Amino acid sequence: MSGAQETKELVCVGCPVGCPLQLTHEGTKLVEVHGHECNRGAKYAKQEFKDPRRGLATTVIIEGARWARLPVKVSNPVPKGRVLEAARLIHAIVAKAPVSVGDVLLTGLFGEENLEVVATRSMERV
Ligand code: SF4
Repeated sequence: MSGAQETKELVCVGCPVGCPLQLTHEGTKLVEVHGHECNRGAKYAKQEFKDPRRGLATTVIIEGARWARLPVKVSNPVPKGRVLEAARLIHAIVAKAPVSVGDVLLTGLFGEENLEVVATRSMERV
C-alpha cells in the first residue's frame, strides 16, 4: 500500500527566471517535479527536498593586519538548518596575518571533508 501523496512548492533559484516548482512526494520519497524549464531546476528541487543547503560567507577576526576582520566563505553549501551553528563556529576563528586569498582556515566543518573555511581576500602583516 502506498502512502498519501503531498505537494510542496518552491521557487527555483538557479537563474533570474525563478520557475515555480511543484514537488509531489510520499513522505520522504520524492515522486515527481513539475514546473522546471531546465534540468537545473529538477536538480535544485531534488537537492532542496533531500538535503537543503545554503552558501555561507562571513568574516572572522584577524590579528596583525590593517583591518580587524577578514572575509571568509565556506567552500561548499552548508546544511540549511545548521547555518547559524556554522556561523558561530566560524566566528570563533582568529586568523593571523599574513593571509592569502584561498588559505584554508578550518577543514571538516561538521565532520564533512568538503566543508572548508577559506579566506576570500589577502591581508598583509602590518
Ligand atoms: S528551472 Fe531552469 S530556467 Fe527555471 S529558474 Fe531554474 S535554472 Fe532558471
